[in-house]
Amino acid sequence: MGTIETQPRSVSQTEQWEKCGYQFYLKRVERVTPRPAAWSHQGTAFHSAAEAVERSGRTMTEEEAVQLFSDQYSVLVNKSMREEPNLGRWMTAMKKPAGDDINDRYRMGQEQVRRYVQWSQANQPSFVTVKNSKGEEKVGLELYFKVELGGVVVRGYIDQLPLEPDKSTRVRDLKTGSTKSRFQLETYKVAAEKQWDLKVYKGDWYQGKKHGLTRPLDLSEVTEEQVAARYVAMDQGVKAGRFEANPGFDCGFCDVSHACSFSRAR
Ligand code: SF4
Repeated sequence: MGTIETQPRSVSQTEQWEKCGYQFYLKRVERVTPRPAAWSHQGTAFHSAAEAVERSGRTMTEEEAVQLFSDQYSVLVNKSMREEPNLGRWMTAMKKPAGDDINDRYRMGQEQVRRYVQWSQANQPSFVTVKNSKGEEKVGLELYFKVELGGVVVRGYIDQLPLEPDKSTRVRDLKTGSTKSRFQLETYKVAAEKQWDLKVYKGDWYQGKKHGLTRPLDLSEVTEEQVAARYVAMDQGVKAGRFEANPGFDCGFCDVSHACSFSRAR
């Protein structure tokens, strides 16, 4: 099974194993090449643009941010097209032809970036500053963390750590699609408190689709033990070789369904 037994865990690994252990196995143990999806390139390019806007102190204009998105999206799509030239194998929602999906997400992503810049300029979020392991000051944008939870090493990146009026910190995740993970925000809260000694009581999502924030999620009661328990269960399951298939609705969004004999994808 190689290094999968010992490598650090993440939110996505854990949620994937919980939803369908066989998908985890195909992707991370068998290393099946996933089918490309324009939605993932849209998300990556949107994150890059939003980060650049904030790192510029909001001096980056809408046009510059949109250009950054467009350039990165094009690079990512072109790379995927070289790797999988058969657009019929790309993943799309509602059986939309992949060519249309690629074009639609290009325009949708540009609009989402434009509206993010407007939102950010109107709301002027400010972000916490922390010190990394080398003592260097880092602003709370795409911050890398690595913490031990219940004896399991967990790592990831926190999209944004905005400051609250009471000097506590919020954890924020940026989304271009509809899926939201409470477990992700819970992990960020625990990691931010553990690694940088911050106080985190709330979390939220910036939703590119709706051009604004969700209502804040109360994270004040979330404990390290609660969050750790899910990582420990997943870690033990992987080490024990438990990769149960869970065929169902999610097969339609599974990028390794082509290699799965249990698939219910249509
Ligand atoms: S196709 Fe369905 S059952 Fe198979 S790995 Fe994907 S989600 Fe799991």
